[in-house]
Amino acid sequence: AIVTRFAPSPTGFLHIGGARTALFNWLYARRFGGRFVLRIEDTDKARSTQAAIDAILDGMTWLGLDWDGDAWFQSHFAARHAEVARALLESGHAYRCWMTQEELAAQREAAQKERRPFRIRSPWRDRDDGPADQPFVVRLRAPQEGETSIDDAVQGRVTVRNEEIDDFVLLRSDGTPTYMLAVVVDDHDMGVTHVIRGDDHLNNAFRQIAIIRAMGWPVPTYGHVPLIHGADGAKLSKRHGALGVETYRDELGMLPEALFNYLLRLGWGHGDAEIISREEAIQWFDLPQVGRAPARFDMKKLENLNGHYLRAADPRRIASLIDHRIEGALGRGLDAGDIDLLTRAMPVLTPRAKDLNELAEAAQFLFKLRPLDVDEKAAALLEGAARDLLALVHESLQKLDTWTVEATEQAVREVSEAEGVKLGQVAQPLRAALTGRATSPGIFDVLALLGRDESLARIGDQMT
Ligand code: GLU
Repeated sequence: AIVTRFAPSPTGFLHIGGARTALFNWLYARRFGGRFVLRIEDTDKARSTQAAIDAILDGMTWLGLDWDGDAWFQSHFAARHAEVARALLESGHAYRCWMTQEELAAQREAAQKERRPFRIRSPWRDRDDGPADQPFVVRLRAPQEGETSIDDAVQGRVTVRNEEIDDFVLLRSDGTPTYMLAVVVDDHDMGVTHVIRGDDHLNNAFRQIAIIRAMGWPVPTYGHVPLIHGADGAKLSKRHGALGVETYRDELGMLPEALFNYLLRLGWGHGDAEIISREEAIQWFDLPQVGRAPARFDMKKLENLNGHYLRAADPRRIASLIDHRIEGALGRGLDAGDIDLLTRAMPVLTPRAKDLNELAEAAQFLFKLRPLDVDEKAAALLEGAARDLLALVHESLQKLDTWTVEATEQAVREVSEAEGVKLGQVAQPLRAALTGRATSPGIFDVLALLGRDESLARIGDQMT
């Protein structure tokens, strides 16, 4: 059975690249009825934080990337990693090395001088009579002849000459495992069959395969996904949107399904499908359709998708996602009636918003207390003849028996026709009076949402 994994180091937040790696692994497992496991690579105790662990778990949960079984913490298995290093020593695939920092530095310098690539050549590869009471590291006795190939599910066949792989360290002199050893042992012990990760790990894969072969373990299938680049083609940085997932949620007001869809399309495609549901993604996802060129992060595209999902979502859910933002801006709580109104307003508000912040901002007028504070642009719309037109609109609206979008439109049109002015000349001051702003959703929708009493009162406030 297929087992994929996500193996983040909790030294920072779950950023966009990590989230995409998690997504691809999750999808691959779900597509093929496998398991998706989560391993927190917390061996670097100095740089790992609980806050980062929480952010990773939170971000994955928010995106709906559920993992199977409990999260595995790499640091709990240091004894197991050391045991494998010992097994490699015993089988002759590893050796103890007493080289000092000075000796290493001298080798590095010599290589630089001769302009050849630096490869550690340990004298201890061929002898084991070092001072047993002195600290030593355990190095892999890497094969020096021949070559190693990976049939990467994304990159295709990639080959390196084994002489390029040095005798890297498995266990440090304090007995702790290196990343290279820990990853291989954990992947094996967790039964991982498919390693899908960023292509910054492709070079590591050759080293990891050397350990795997030395242990006689099965080599997993690799899929090294090109890293995400910014819109300008440079490697993704904060400036480009390499932010934590929680920033997209909290500060940028994105929906999880929008980010899910966006991350999916970032380097993977299914024909020209842009809007792809979770179900479709699970049905379609596979590694051959992952591009070999780096995908470019495009905020506009993400915003467009977010707008799409805002319109498609259940209005009550969206209302519950923005109510606290509105409360924060108004400085007071919303009651059940307010939430109902907000929910009813969604079809009118969402077509004009690309994120939850804009939506919350656009919804505020519904809950403002009278008399409304009118911003500068709106105030300009209320000058001169506008106030007389407002009085006429007030009179005409007051006579309505039914208060609907259609009926209010009819009443406002009648005023503009009777006065021989364009509809806009009536609608603009009306908008300013009803919302305190110069822009808003369609004015008849606004009238219908606010209802007769509130609408007439707000218009009345501006007539004098
Ligand atoms: N912990 C590594 C990282 O966050 C990933 C290890 C792996 O995927 O093999 O970059």
